[in-house]
Amino acid sequence: MIIDLHTHSTASDGSLSPIDLLRAAKTQGVEVLSLTDHDTVSGIEEASRAARDLSMEFIPGIEFSTEVEESEIHILGYWIDTKNPTLLALLRRLKRSRLRRIYHMVARLKKMGLVLNVEEIIQQRKMGVYGRPQVASALRRRGYVSSIEEAFEKYIGITRPAYVPHFKLSPWQAVRLIIKSSGIPVYAHPGLSRRDDLIPSLLESGLQGIEVFYPEHSPADVQRYLKIARDSSLLVTGGSDYHGESGNPSSLGIPDFPAEFYRVFRSCHF
Ligand code: AMP
Ligand code: ZN
Ligand code: FE
Ligand code: FE
Repeated sequence: MIIDLHTHSTASDGSLSPIDLLRAAKTQGVEVLSLTDHDTVSGIEEASRAARDLSMEFIPGIEFSTEVEESEIHILGYWIDTKNPTLLALLRRLKRSRLRRIYHMVARLKKMGLVLNVEEIIQQRKMGVYGRPQVASALRRRGYVSSIEEAFEKYIGITRPAYVPHFKLSPWQAVRLIIKSSGIPVYAHPGLSRRDDLIPSLLESGLQGIEVFYPEHSPADVQRYLKIARDSSLLVTGGSDYHGESGNPSSLGIPDFPAEFYRVFRSCHF
């Protein structure tokens, strides 16, 4: 059974619409899929309908981008109640903060002599998030830089002068919010953030699972996180983090993810 519990669509920064994502998954032999867009549930309804039409098993999900000290930590939430008022209010706040940040970055760039049209950046948003990639594209369109990479290196990278942070949850807040929305919180790709030291306190906040099977995890990572999952009674999940063909090179589905772990995970949702 091919399963994929971590994917993105155009509702955040993936390149396929929710419908096309489900169709692609079906074509690639995936039988169970979760859509886990960054900080939004706006693709869930379309994805869920498409899954029904294609007779696929679908799990509503989300991936929160959180921050602690210098680390970016991603927390997945499964079976969250997408109508929960606390959740929806928080998601609106995250989105507003990203929008305000675009204005701030454009103002900073203007002081540096780089003039961009903020309305154009906002309208040209093709995907569901307002982010630095759109500012980088605008800098390139105006000829201020010759590549997206150069825009980050010179102006909007995290240590560069036009970088503006935006409101983010802490990982503990994300875990609690997912629980409040009746969901199951899972630590995403822990091998990328390498902050195993956070796991005990995340467990105290209610963490219930860990994404052990992930394309960029080495065999040693998989063994380490399987052991942590066993020792702490955490659920084991797996996902590709697919962003569409233009995104990372991973394809849909995690063939190595044992269906047995999925069955245990599935049984935690009634
Ligand atoms: P944001 O969430 O608005 O802060 O933007 C983060 C996104 O910017 C990441 O998901 C990447 O897609 C992109 N990004 C970050 N750093 C770079 C970089 N050095 N070069 C190109 N893209 C980058
Ligand atoms: Zn993404
Ligand atoms: Fe992630
Ligand atoms: Fe992701």
